[in-house]
Amino acid sequence: MGKIIAIANQKGGVGKTTTSVNLGACLAYIGKRVLLVDVDPQGNATSGIGIEKADVAHCIYDILVDDVDAKGVIKSTAVENLDIIPATIQLAGAEIELVPTISREVRLKRALEAVKDQYDYMVIDCPPSLGLLTINALTASDAVLIPVQCEYYALEGLSQLLNTVRLVQKHLNTDLTIEGVLLTMLDARTNLGIQVIDEVKKYFQDKVYKTIIPRNIRLSEAPSHGQPIIIYDPRSRGAEVYLDLAKEVVVNG
Ligand code: ADP
Ligand code: MG
Repeated sequence: MGKIIAIANQKGGVGKTTTSVNLGACLAYIGKRVLLVDVDPQGNATSGIGIEKADVAHCIYDILVDDVDAKGVIKSTAVENLDIIPATIQLAGAEIELVPTISREVRLKRALEAVKDQYDYMVIDCPPSLGLLTINALTASDAVLIPVQCEYYALEGLSQLLNTVRLVQKHLNTDLTIEGVLLTMLDARTNLGIQVIDEVKKYFQDKVYKTIIPRNIRLSEAPSHGQPIIIYDPRSRGAEVYLDLAKEVVVNG
């Protein structure tokens, strides 16, 4: 049975999509069968892995709103062992359209359960909000990975996210655990980064991944080529650290 990991933080630009795509691709690279699930209407994970939005007939919207089977929406990618449930801008309507529907919080969970035995890992890229799409992702998941950018106010807003995680644990998914906090975009040339690492470790203690993601220009270039870093530039520092993260995730079980 596959392990489902939601990559969540309601702040934008903290590295959710970069982590979803590259953790997913690195898990696939080390031989795991992986499904990337794009739950952000911006569809950055979809385009970042090389799927043309124009070629997407069905997307996550059809699963969440129209009860279409996940099997009919899954697409393979150019990366071996890596499939994706894509998102298009159509998904932007789902947050509102789901509100009056039955079992609106558990739709993703039910859809993924039907394909869970075909994958070792499913990685869900969440939108930058704590609305119904993120709730669906957390409800479907075994674990949540929280990317935190190494900058001033790194911890700001995290209490809201943790509160949402607690509410989901209480009412929708008692099995959800905080898999870990991932420090991202560390600029090793500044002292600020070191201070933020200390601050986050003080708060989250052993929940912080040993792997820390530095700022790496190759990581920011890769999406415009529709490739994960392990394909775009396998010898880059970015590829190295996301491979380390994938191994850490596997060891964590
Ligand atoms: P989110 O999904 O949380 O909004 P993204 O993963 O899209 O965040 O990252 C925001 C921006 O920062 C993107 O342009 C991305 O390419 C860039 N980025 C993310 N991680 C890194 C990194 N480690 N080094 C350099 N650029 C990064
Ligand atoms: Mg994103």
